[in-house]
Amino acid sequence: MTLPRVVDGLQFEEGQIFESPDDFKQALAWFAMANKFTFEFLNNSRSYYRIVCTVEECKWKLTAGCEGNSDLVRVKKFNNVHCHTAQDVANYKPTVRSKYIGKMIKEKIAETPGYLPVQIRKDFEASMSVHMSYHQAWCAKEWAKSSITGEPKDSFKFVPWMCNRLIDCIPGTRANYILSDDGRFKQLFVAYGCSITGFMTACRPILFIDACHLTGHYRGVLMSVCGLDANNGLYPLAYSFASTENDENWLWFLQELKHIIGDRTIVLMTDRNHSLLLGIIQIFGGECNAWCLRHLKENFSRFMVRKGIKNKRRETGLKMLNDIAYARDSRMYYHYLVMMHNFNPQLADWVKDNDSRHWANALFPLKRWDWMYSNPSESFNSWIGPLRECNIFQFMKDHVLKLTSFLMKKKVTLEKSKTPVGPRIEEKIRDNQERSTGCGYKN
Ligand SMILES: [Zn+2]
Repeated sequence: MTLPRVVDGLQFEEGQIFESPDDFKQALAWFAMANKFTFEFLNNSRSYYRIVCTVEECKWKLTAGCEGNSDLVRVKKFNNVHCHTAQDVANYKPTVRSKYIGKMIKEKIAETPGYLPVQIRKDFEASMSVHMSYHQAWCAKEWAKSSITGEPKDSFKFVPWMCNRLIDCIPGTRANYILSDDGRFKQLFVAYGCSITGFMTACRPILFIDACHLTGHYRGVLMSVCGLDANNGLYPLAYSFASTENDENWLWFLQELKHIIGDRTIVLMTDRNHSLLLGIIQIFGGECNAWCLRHLKENFSRFMVRKGIKNKRRETGLKMLNDIAYARDSRMYYHYLVMMHNFNPQLADWVKDNDSRHWANALFPLKRWDWMYSNPSESFNSWIGPLRECNIFQFMKDHVLKLTSFLMKKKVTLEKSKTPVGPRIEEKIRDNQERSTGCGYKN
């Protein structure tokens, strides 16, 4: 990507008119950057702007002022000749103001919200030959976003209106929010009617709950819950905006989720965030809570390091944990647990101390369709992608568009399938049939 060469052909001359003081100052900033000098205002009022070069003894000078009571700024006097020594040139440090850079990249951000600060910085340096820090690039992007969608703090004002619009437009939608006692936004929960109906009537009763950080100005967390479609693909069910992952916010999220799934027993796959687990016990009871094996393995791995189990022995320990987790029945579960005990009793004790009924297949009381990891939550986080840096209003607006087109594409793909399941599941079934050819059943 290249940045628009806003400075190409940018000139100042006596009598020139700018539409506003802001336009005038912005043009001046770009002009100085393009010509590698810095300036200062000796007078900075609407009626009289007097600007000089910061290099001592340099005669560069510009005066301008507003025309009468209007906003139009006219250049009065302009001497565009610098007198700089080699050292002055070497000492040059540009003034990079986020607002001016933000204006430069505004159109690009509107077209491509995923334009990253790292890339902005690269493009800016390539096009202007001026160094820019990551922070400056981030601020410039924030400025551009605010100028497109309004101030982030103002976007919260639209939440009630947007919730009502969603409820009116999509029957069965739950869009709820809470405010603090002093009227400030606290949390939002949204599940569209079509997503709820689709999940309740046709999806397997398993849901994946997770939270990821928002990267924009708001800096809160995005809590999400998603299921699986008939092809084992992602099926987003609901999302929530909150300030952080704490007991109160997870509890409210789970209460909202309870409203949409009612008394139906549904497996809830999660990591081991303490507040989330507490909330699940309170709202759904702990039995339906399956833990993602990835987080568990990380904890187990750290435990082994603490106990001095390293390298090959650590790999063996992890393989044993895997065997315990995937064991099909309790007989095999205890078989692998005894093997682990013989390898290292401390590891077997760790398994006993870490509620294996939440993560070992054989002990988990409900059906989980062999889902041992919360991969769908990770798919959701990457599917959301650049929306994570939007303000809340923009997010709500873009999410509904993104989800409806996502579901539409799924519908078209799955309609081509001749069986009630999608091609991925069909392949799995075929594979299992082939592998079981010749197998008998022994009681
Ligand atoms: Zn100068």
